[in-house]
Amino acid sequence: MNLKLIIYNSALLTMIYDLIIIGAGPAGITASVYAARLGLKFLVITKDIGGQAAASGDVENYTGYQFITGPELAAKFEEHLRKFSIELRENEAVIDIKKDDGGIISVKSEKNNYFARAAIVASGKRSRMLNVPGEIEFKNRGLTYCAICDGPLFKGKDVAVIGGGNSALDAVLQLIRIAKRIYIVNIASDFTADKTMLEEVKIAKNVTALHNAKVSAIIGDKFVKAIKLDIQGIDKEISVEGVFVEIGLIPNSEFAPIVARNKHNEIKIDSYNRSDAAGIFAAGDVTDVAEKQIIIAAGEGAKAALSVFKYLAQPGKLTNSGAVRYS
Ligand SMILES: Cc1cc2nc3c(=O)[nH]c(=O)nc-3n(C[C@H](O)[C@H](O)[C@H](O)COP(=O)(O)OP(=O)(O)OC[C@H]3O[C@@H](n4cnc5c(N)ncnc54)[C@H](O)[C@@H]3O)c2cc1C
Repeated sequence: MNLKLIIYNSALLTMIYDLIIIGAGPAGITASVYAARLGLKFLVITKDIGGQAAASGDVENYTGYQFITGPELAAKFEEHLRKFSIELRENEAVIDIKKDDGGIISVKSEKNNYFARAAIVASGKRSRMLNVPGEIEFKNRGLTYCAICDGPLFKGKDVAVIGGGNSALDAVLQLIRIAKRIYIVNIASDFTADKTMLEEVKIAKNVTALHNAKVSAIIGDKFVKAIKLDIQGIDKEISVEGVFVEIGLIPNSEFAPIVARNKHNEIKIDSYNRSDAAGIFAAGDVTDVAEKQIIIAAGEGAKAALSVFKYLAQPGKLTNSGAVRYS
């Protein structure tokens, strides 16, 4: 499919891509690889390359790799992506996506406006914030949302990991051999993480778990010095130099109010990765697809690109209003 130059909404010549892919995590990169191989004229707009995969610790569940670190796997994805001469806008955030009466989709970033006949939203998720005093003040001054990225900075120090699910326990496992002491601050009465991770954490000698504990403030001067906790109504202060916030993830879907989202703000898609707006597809963690994993996001990215290809070839047949027949 060829790039078209048309006069669009103004006297200026504007490029209309076949497809714009938003995000370059496992879903966006895999969609890009498929789109390149399908010969689509497309553009990728992304804040970073690798997404959460680049911030994952040890990955032992991506088929073909019995063991690989998140950053290594993300580097492999990036190598595959760059094998094709694709148009890539890196370090650029999308802030709005719209559709006009003629079906052209406009994607607005912080820097520019882009146009396409189809879009794949693959913008994944980001860390949920604690929303307590001191969090913004001490961000990157002892408080972080990424153990794999920042863990080594806390060698021999006492740190706190906030959370009790898989992300939190993954962070603890990253830190066990780095930090002197790790306090796990869990708001619930027990962990919700996978059994295998829990078993590893339980035998570690330098980990203390605090359940039913709520962070009320981060305190320090230039850098973090302590956290204030409310443990079942009793105030407690713990001296730490590092705070790792791992209390879950929220979808990066705010820029796409044009499509229907569920109560968690995940974009609702069908089994062809279609949103409720014809021509706008979505893939990976930003969607309501069951389970958020690298291999699932990658597979969803592949499916989305294939669906876009069919939509562009036969727009009448691949609408969002009825059954789809692929022949
Ligand atoms: C700590 C941790 C450990 C994990 N460990 C594992 C594991 O061991 N195995 C496993 O299978 N999964 C693991 N996961 C989950 C896995 O990383 C995700 O399911 C997967 O990365 C989702 O891929 P995605 O492409 O949908 O989204 P993401 O990886 O979140 O990528 C989203 C992309 O969109 C970009 N983006 C976001 N907003 C915008 C915007 N407004 N404009 C432009 N670009 C934007 C981002 O920069 C990024 O490139 C882990 C996750 C975390 C956080």
